[in-house]
Amino acid sequence: KTSSKQSDDASKVRVVVRVRPFLSSEVLDKSKNPICCASVLDSEHGFNDEVAVYLKDQFTSRKECYKLDSFFREENSVNEIFHKEVSPLISGIFHGCNGTVFAYGATGSGKTHTMQGTDELPGIMTLSMSMVLDMCEMSGSIAEISYYEVYMDRCYDLLQPKDQEILVLDDKEGQVHLKGLSRVSVSTMSEFHQVLSSGIQRRKVAHTGLNDVSSRSHGVLVIVVTDGSSPVVNGKLNLIDLAGNEDNRRTGNEGIRLQESVKINQSLFALSNVIYALNNNKSRVPYRESKLTRILQDSLGGNSHSLMVACLFSFSVPDYQLYFFDPKEETPK
Ligand code: ADP
Ligand code: MG
Repeated sequence: KTSSKQSDDASKVRVVVRVRPFLSSEVLDKSKNPICCASVLDSEHGFNDEVAVYLKDQFTSRKECYKLDSFFREENSVNEIFHKEVSPLISGIFHGCNGTVFAYGATGSGKTHTMQGTDELPGIMTLSMSMVLDMCEMSGSIAEISYYEVYMDRCYDLLQPKDQEILVLDDKEGQVHLKGLSRVSVSTMSEFHQVLSSGIQRRKVAHTGLNDVSSRSHGVLVIVVTDGSSPVVNGKLNLIDLAGNEDNRRTGNEGIRLQESVKINQSLFALSNVIYALNNNKSRVPYRESKLTRILQDSLGGNSHSLMVACLFSFSVPDYQLYFFDPKEETPK
């Protein structure tokens, strides 16, 4: 059912939720933090294949229900997300369709785990590169990667760092160019790991020289496929570890942290407006309202395929709790 949905609405952004498991440190805190679970209203529960998650605002008791295209529970591996949701996008880039995958969520919700993963549990970036290289081998195509971050609404190259920001230009055809962004050709997974991990290291220490502020920028890995005989790009896949969205009333951010946070929230708001416009067939899609959405203009909507993985965990937003839901009841408690 989901795959037919995907082909009907190619320009829409699929939205799936991934709930991460409790960490051992959190299970110790069980008394303070009741175990929360998200419930799905799917066909098993007689809900017409609608999938939804409920969140409840503890202060106002407001309940929010988000409709989803799919739902991945604690026990679902990143491989399942990859095979069901990401691999069709990769086939697409070999047929001239750009693709975009974002991980969205609060800090600590599992975005980096999902996108980058670890040595033992490769994330979507590694799984994607591996599939792209296999397909390149079969088709004689060439894969190249870029890796950059969007920090405070400016783009910075993470593979060949320069002092200046990378300027974003768009041409009449709506193709986006990041002026001077480096592109490194990759033909083996070990090359990929080498190139990406040097970029990740740079992202970690950029801007402060000390602190790990990587979650305060959007990290964008682009895998580009060319046909091998000319530099013409066939298709590109953007894999994005978004900055964590934050509630400044709660974090008490000040100074530069507050400015960063304002920029993060503005760009996430702009992104959500673009997704809303695409998914509700609006004639005007407000791409130009942030750097992030301008960059993605040629990779979100149109004949591009995109996926948002909304990462959740039950402490992620103390104002909200994943809501216990008994599917037999009409409305959640
Ligand atoms: P974010 O990037 O959203 O801030 P992280 O990816 O860094 O969050 O995840 C926060 C913590 O949770 C990390 O210690 C990470 O290893 C762990 N974690 C996240 N997702 C999972 C998962 N699916 N399974 C196991 N551990 C996870
Ligand atoms: Mg992170």
